[in-house]
Amino acid sequence: TVDWTKEMLDVVGEEHLLLSPDQRDKLSKDYYWYSPVLEPLLRDKRADGIVLAESEEQVAQVLAAAYRSNIPVTTRGAGTGNYGQAVPLEGGIVLDLSRMDKVLEVTDAYARVQAGVRLGALEKLLRGQGSELRIYPSTFMKATVGGFVCGGSGGIGSITWGNLWDGNVLEAVVYTLEETPRRLVVRGPELIAYIHNYGTNGVLTELTIPVSSSVPWRQTVAQFDDFESACRFSHAVATDDSIRKRLVAPVEWPIPSFFKPIVKQLESGASACLLETEEGTEDALAAHAASFNGRIGYVIPYEQYRKTIGLSDFTWNHTTLWALKTDPSLTYLQAGFHPVDFLGQIGQIKEKFGDEVLMHLEFMRSGGVVVPAALPIVRYTTHERLYEIIGYFRSIGVSINDPHTWMLEMGGRGQLEAMLAAKRSNDPRGLLNPGKLNTPVTEPIRSDEP
Ligand code: FAD
Repeated sequence: TVDWTKEMLDVVGEEHLLLSPDQRDKLSKDYYWYSPVLEPLLRDKRADGIVLAESEEQVAQVLAAAYRSNIPVTTRGAGTGNYGQAVPLEGGIVLDLSRMDKVLEVTDAYARVQAGVRLGALEKLLRGQGSELRIYPSTFMKATVGGFVCGGSGGIGSITWGNLWDGNVLEAVVYTLEETPRRLVVRGPELIAYIHNYGTNGVLTELTIPVSSSVPWRQTVAQFDDFESACRFSHAVATDDSIRKRLVAPVEWPIPSFFKPIVKQLESGASACLLETEEGTEDALAAHAASFNGRIGYVIPYEQYRKTIGLSDFTWNHTTLWALKTDPSLTYLQAGFHPVDFLGQIGQIKEKFGDEVLMHLEFMRSGGVVVPAALPIVRYTTHERLYEIIGYFRSIGVSINDPHTWMLEMGGRGQLEAMLAAKRSNDPRGLLNPGKLNTPVTEPIRSDEP
């Protein structure tokens, strides 16, 4: 340890290297504790030091020093990932990029930013110029652009623009971990090696993402006597191209009762759909709601946009957050339902598990097709039972991206072959976020290596 700290101090200076146990502890954690499976396994993992990088040059120097000293490097944005992606399993350094937060270029078509720029800050800046982000996670106020690209998938906006793999990353600057780190500029199809890679095959220092023109968003809650009607309504809105939208999230009662800050505005006992649609779409929404015996309830008009807690704060994985705050024994899954027969699948699940599984869908576009993604809330009892539930979902054709593992292969989102090929060429010593890939691609780190 002494040797590498000395080397790192020479490279970055005292003010950029945190060694106190408290700081190391805090910056070695993400939101893995959402999972009762991951919590006991990751709670004691901690980096040996935290490096706060301020520039690309510094990143390159840190990576070269890590190579020389043979120590693992786990990159960190804001640490809001849910699967322990940013937790250093084998110690070494956490390379925190949150200080690399410069917006480098903004046009009508794209934003080019340093990886540590927070999505919330970028969205605010863009809106001031008549643009907005196409997609962002519900953690956008904290989360960084680099962390979203390397650890996330989709979110608000995905109903129109798809997820990260649907053209929502245009270019990335990537540093390799070699004797002399290379600076790669990656575009087009090659980007799939770096999207949702958990930083296992490179450190992304700069990203270019597409933007679209800003829309006056109106937030609406539609309410229904049963979840099936909420789903039918949601599907009708999701597939109605005359309604511009960026959020269509049906939740089964009693999930709305978990939403403490807005619960008084919600109808007790009703399943709900949380929407963000363009101002002027209220008649169309009311007509769709009436077709499914529903009512329009709480509305946040555009004048109140971002002046009060927004509906997106109750969607995507924030739904799970409110559930956990209400009842810590609740956890979640990430599922993909059939684009047409999703109601049949949901019916089978409800029949088998009742209130042990509460339904929460997020309609999105994937490869152009409107699909119901889902983050169902599950009552956690035992590991075996959780995997029994997962097994049943899969047996009826519902795909699961397991959120209770830090292994890239098992979480199952990224493009594995491309990621492994990049790993081989960019990280010959296997020092980037070791332990997150199950497939052996490089020689394990040996302490006797130079
Ligand atoms: P971090 O957690 O810091 O990092 C994520 C991963 O990327 C880690 O493996 C890290 O090592 C790696 N990494 C970070 N930066 C870099 C870089 N520059 N180069 C290489 N590797 C890097 N996710 C969604 O996709 N959609 C959602 O709607 C969503 N909702 C959420 C709601 C809640 C309440 C919570 C707790 C999480 C949610 N997430 C969601 C997960 C997470 O918040 C997002 O994916 C977020 O964008 C991660 O950004 P971050 O800066 O916090 O990344």
